[in-house]
Amino acid sequence: MRRLVRRRAPVVRREESLPLGRVLAGLEGDILVKRSSARRTLALRVAEGGQAIVNAPLQLPLARVEAFLALHRAWLAEHLGRSQRQARSFAWEDGARLPWQGGHLTLVLEPGSGRPEVRLEGDRLHCAGPLETLAARVVHWYRRQARAWLAGRLAHQATLAGRPLPPLRLSDARTRWGSLSPSGVVSLNWRLLKVAPALADYVICHELAHFRQRNHSPAFWAEVARLYPDWREARRRLREQGAGCFLF
Ligand SMILES: [Zn+2]
Repeated sequence: MRRLVRRRAPVVRREESLPLGRVLAGLEGDILVKRSSARRTLALRVAEGGQAIVNAPLQLPLARVEAFLALHRAWLAEHLGRSQRQARSFAWEDGARLPWQGGHLTLVLEPGSGRPEVRLEGDRLHCAGPLETLAARVVHWYRRQARAWLAGRLAHQATLAGRPLPPLRLSDARTRWGSLSPSGVVSLNWRLLKVAPALADYVICHELAHFRQRNHSPAFWAEVARLYPDWREARRRLREQGAGCFLF
């Protein structure tokens, strides 16, 4: 007797990103297009942290995805705006937890105690000076640390990759960690200082891989794997840890 075993084809998944500016003129960042062979319809959502994600059938032409997005432009603008308003509502109070290299620093307020300054002691960030400018001063402090630290990581990873050191631009993008400009400038978000160092290294390797492949094709991911073998896990963790990193 012969038994007929029906094998289901394995689900094929693929991701690409679409510049947000193509749908909402003037906006930075990108829309993540998550394709799956198991999908028949299109669906749009904005994840916590403000990442716009569209789920799409595996083979649907990008033009159809874009047409769908154009149709839902108003919805997308409203929900991105909402997530950004939430993002601005970080509670700057004594004892607040500030994300730092995968862990956190504790904010210690010292209002009215002399000249405005931000200083790190152990895992406590002491902030003296007026409360009105507190957020701006802390962000300024983060950016200064980020510039020095990311420059060092970029130099290290470029050396390992056997590439000359590319110029670094510190970015403040709301929805993306890094990018590579056509002229070869690596932009890295200062908020990479908030996630675990290994995840910042992944982002740096990702951008270095774009020097060889200016796309997200399988050849690109093969290059990423050469520079950062555990990239899948890093990408997954970055999505998890990263969600809470855009509150300030
Ligand atoms: Zn990329």
